[in-house]
Amino acid sequence: MNPASRTFERVAPERVAKALEALKDVLKEGQVKRDEASLDAYARDESDSGVYPPDVVLLPEDTAQVSAIFKACQAHGVPFTPCGARSGKSGGSLPLRGGVAVSLERMNRIRAISSEDLTAVVEPGVVTGDLMKAVEAQGLFYPPDPNSWEVCTLGGNVAENAGGPRALKYGVTRDYVIGLEWVMPDGEVLRVGRRTIKGVAGYDLVGLFVGSEGTLGVATEITVQLIPLPRQVMTALVVFPSVLHAARGVSAVLAAGILPRCLELIDEVAVQAIVHRGSFQFPTGTGAALIAEVDGNTPEGVFAELKQLGDLCEAQGATQTLVAQDASQRDRLWAARRVISPALRALKAAKISEDIVVPRSKIPDIIEQLKRMGADLGLTVATYGHAGDGNLHANILYDGPSQRPLVEEALRRMLELTVALGGTITGEHGVGHAKREYLALEQAPALLDLQRRLKAFFDPSGLLNPEKIFPALKRS
Ligand SMILES: Cc1cc2nc3c(=O)[nH]c(=O)nc-3n(C[C@H](O)[C@H](O)[C@H](O)COP(=O)(O)OP(=O)(O)OC[C@H]3O[C@@H](n4cnc5c(N)ncnc54)[C@H](O)[C@@H]3O)c2cc1C
Repeated sequence: MNPASRTFERVAPERVAKALEALKDVLKEGQVKRDEASLDAYARDESDSGVYPPDVVLLPEDTAQVSAIFKACQAHGVPFTPCGARSGKSGGSLPLRGGVAVSLERMNRIRAISSEDLTAVVEPGVVTGDLMKAVEAQGLFYPPDPNSWEVCTLGGNVAENAGGPRALKYGVTRDYVIGLEWVMPDGEVLRVGRRTIKGVAGYDLVGLFVGSEGTLGVATEITVQLIPLPRQVMTALVVFPSVLHAARGVSAVLAAGILPRCLELIDEVAVQAIVHRGSFQFPTGTGAALIAEVDGNTPEGVFAELKQLGDLCEAQGATQTLVAQDASQRDRLWAARRVISPALRALKAAKISEDIVVPRSKIPDIIEQLKRMGADLGLTVATYGHAGDGNLHANILYDGPSQRPLVEEALRRMLELTVALGGTITGEHGVGHAKREYLALEQAPALLDLQRRLKAFFDPSGLLNPEKIFPALKRS
């Protein structure tokens, strides 16, 4: 079912008024927004899964205010939904039942960077790219790099366990978060995890909270571990006649024991979309491409690895390996990668984007099967993304609402094919609102039930970020 068409019972406005009354001495003017433009802005994210305005947007500036908001909402039965930059692609920040949107965007200070301890402590509203630049200025490296790094926040990254192109070599957000200040759904403030690199005391609650999609509480302070900044980075565009050749190139590189830090696939449709937008010129005859990036500490070592990668790809049919000669050429390659999503959107009236993952050995299979499925249904399927770790952004482009039932059919088939190949329905965007009805494709009823009980343990009232992740229970 199209998630955008689902409606939910909204909270009574009198309850919201009572919660706001309880907060009148806690929040200053300017921290409470009820104008139409604000309600509209916080009603949506980047997922195309509907428009659900809150009754009010609250902008806390410290942990005590977050806690007070949660307590007031619980006391008056008001649903409340956290958000960061609203760049999410699964509808996780949508206030489906109205109520309060709690935006952490004003808690945006980098509190500490320690080059001795290799850690940083940040507030949740820090934009990911700002942390990346701040630590790099000190010769340190925070590897998780969701392609939305220019806007998304660390709080949102923690909630979604965000990944990015560099996940292939360096892992995802969970691999870097070691400690959290966490506000529980009832407003209690806890410190979980540690500030040391090692530590195993107690259950790994950091591991549970990272990836909890804003449903088990919110992060108000995040401690991440850092690593030394690799001194050398080289990036190349590897050109292939077709996406199947490129997919085989990915498998060949990884099977040879090379671990580039990024290996991003761009299929024929995505190549044409970028060209059409005038953002980047590919060499004549480019069918599909890989952006490959390797890093290390010596130029010779890095170049040798990139050369070996190019040779392996050429053995799989690649026609050229073009190495970026300087930082500006590298930036242009990555800018072309980041423009794929809007460029595809411009090709047709509408698109949906999925972030499926298959075992790496199955990448050529899933690409072939998705193309066949698109041809069967008369829909254009574009595939691009972090192919090195098997995480593909599979997009269905379509002509608008009249084709939506067909798109829903395509989506179901796509996720079924993915699961049948041993894959998962989401690699980094989360389940949220967009994919909750598909989670049962890959998780058994007992597992869904265990997670529902976990949610109910943390949030018995269910007022925090309701109607997310788990399939709606059928009413008997
Ligand atoms: C162009 C584009 C490219 C993208 N590329 C990638 C990519 O490469 N990899 C990737 O992983 N994602 C990607 N995304 C998706 C998105 O940017 C990430 O999911 C990101 O982590 C969301 O951060 P945000 O601040 O926008 O969070 P929001 O969208 O505002 O919220 C996302 C979720 O986090 C919860 N939340 C927000 N703040 C907190 C907090 N402090 N504590 C607890 N929960 C909180 C919300 O309730 C919601 O469930 C992309 C999005 C776009 C638009």
